[in-house]
Amino acid sequence: MNPAATNPPPAETAAWFLAQPAAFHEKWMAMALAEARAAAEEGEVPMGCVVVRRLPDGTARPVGRDRNRVESLKDPTAHAEVLAIGQAAADVGDWRLTDCALYVTKEPCPMCGGAIVLGRLALVAWAASDPKRGAHTVFGMFDHPGLNHRPATLFPVGGPAILEELQSFFRARREKPPTSNL
Ligand SMILES: [Zn+2]
Repeated sequence: MNPAATNPPPAETAAWFLAQPAAFHEKWMAMALAEARAAAEEGEVPMGCVVVRRLPDGTARPVGRDRNRVESLKDPTAHAEVLAIGQAAADVGDWRLTDCALYVTKEPCPMCGGAIVLGRLALVAWAASDPKRGAHTVFGMFDHPGLNHRPATLFPVGGPAILEELQSFFRARREKPPTSNL
């Protein structure tokens, strides 16, 4: 049996997520922000991510939740999105995450954008865009005609308070002395 056949098509799931009120998206982004806060405290790049699955009863629940762990795992691929997508696939029992949306505090990098495309997530939402290396803003990955899956996008999710907090995380990180081991 092909498990994908039982999943709703991504476009239909994306439309369902996009039809939810702002409070729905802000709730998941607040959860991602809590992960980013924890990453900042651990001396990691302050990124947090939550993968949310649409359930047949019309509700949704988180199936993956993590933060950047590049420093602690000494792994250049241990970005919040990659870790959360791995958890979600384990929870769902399928690498096809067609009924899931991904919420991340800052726009994914190209590696994570690739993981989102490979996992066929229906929607990707972020609070802050990344004009330097954003998968969508710079590389146009989420509507690239050469890729076989194009997730819907939603940004910015959350108000100015989230953006201010994220900026303060990154500002504090830049101002840290280079010799600091924190
Ligand atoms: Zn990344």
